[in-house]
Amino acid sequence: MGKYRLICLEGGEFVDDDYRLRCDRHSGLLRAEYDAVRLDVKRMNGVFKFYDWLPVASIIDTDAAPVAFRNTELSRELGLKDLLIAFTGYYPERGAFVRSCSFKEMEALPTMARIRDAKKGTVVVASAGNTGRAFAHISNVVGMNSVIVVPERSADRIWVPDDRGYSKLMTVKGDYADSIAVSERISSMKGFVPEGGARNIARRDGMGTVMLESVISMGKMPDYYFQAVGSGTGAISAWEASMRLVADGRFGTKLPELHLSQNDPFMPMKNAWDDGRRSIEKKDMENAERNISEVYADVLTNRNPPYSPVGGLFDAMTACGGMIYGVTNEEAKAAERLWSEFESAVPDPAASVALASLIKAIGKGTIDKNRTVMLNMTGGGQNLVHKDVTMTRIERFAAVDANVSDDELRRVING
Ligand SMILES: *Cc1c(COP(=O)(O)O)cnc(C)c1O
Repeated sequence: MGKYRLICLEGGEFVDDDYRLRCDRHSGLLRAEYDAVRLDVKRMNGVFKFYDWLPVASIIDTDAAPVAFRNTELSRELGLKDLLIAFTGYYPERGAFVRSCSFKEMEALPTMARIRDAKKGTVVVASAGNTGRAFAHISNVVGMNSVIVVPERSADRIWVPDDRGYSKLMTVKGDYADSIAVSERISSMKGFVPEGGARNIARRDGMGTVMLESVISMGKMPDYYFQAVGSGTGAISAWEASMRLVADGRFGTKLPELHLSQNDPFMPMKNAWDDGRRSIEKKDMENAERNISEVYADVLTNRNPPYSPVGGLFDAMTACGGMIYGVTNEEAKAAERLWSEFESAVPDPAASVALASLIKAIGKGTIDKNRTVMLNMTGGGQNLVHKDVTMTRIERFAAVDANVSDDELRRVING
């Protein structure tokens, strides 16, 4: 399409884009190299104002985009001189209209456009939370089909403002891993494609818009970037966006340090990073099931994050510097109470973890309080959106067993 080229970060070769998620020879991530070195923000409301740096030809008409703002009282309370808050959720008072209430919608928007551009089929998403809700919503906005696969017990978590029947909800008996396995089997069938996670450049560059919005609003890059991580995709995206902003030349030359957080007691990436390892090992995830069931922010409990591959989180941390904090449920809830003294949109629990990590960093002296901090509040505003918008729960169209046969699965999905 003559707007970007796709490069394999492991082998360095260019690969043709046809909704590609990996190159044929390597397991590293692919990255888009955009023709536009200088970011020209378009005059429109939604996230496609960053069209130059999104891997799409077409755009989707939307008012959803991240916002960036300051709160001088909260900054003073924290003792920070220069704090910028990025918020992606529903918060009209602050100009934010992300109705699925998290930055996953910034991934869903360009991903759906990229699939449409490549004339690919129905996207398949395994998620019982923010990702599933974001894709269900956007597929109804655009009028493109999607299949959301969730564990039976999470069937009531997928609601949308505008159910036009484009998003189909399938439940799988068993745990989340069973849903992922079934979703992979569906997405390998003819006419279906996986959403691709961190391997999808559209997901990463969509999330990278949070950094773009923040830097454009400040006129400079932050010194520190704070975010709670589950897969680490958001932080990889922040790194990649920062590299593009450095190349742009107007916003500074130093990559922001990544100050990331996981919800204690499930912290595989923190454990591996603290140990100086590129690989996540068994000992980083002991008692995974129990620990996952205990955390406040369950969107942060990814068991298979893109930490090790070339271009993944380990490389991002190595390039930017920084650290990963462990945050307990109590610390996250205390941070949420502090936030709520100053702001009316209730944060997603994961965003509360990020704020708690900032409080921790200040307490421990791991950052200089006089420097510029960007706090990525990755989700919030469910308390507000339900007042303004009538949401419809998506009814499931099929319930299957984890060991459903391929024939049966094909019959169900096409029937
Ligand atoms: C998914 C999610 C995260 C974690 O993002 P990753 O890219 O998976 O690390 C943080 N906050 C919210 C609200 C999320 O939905």
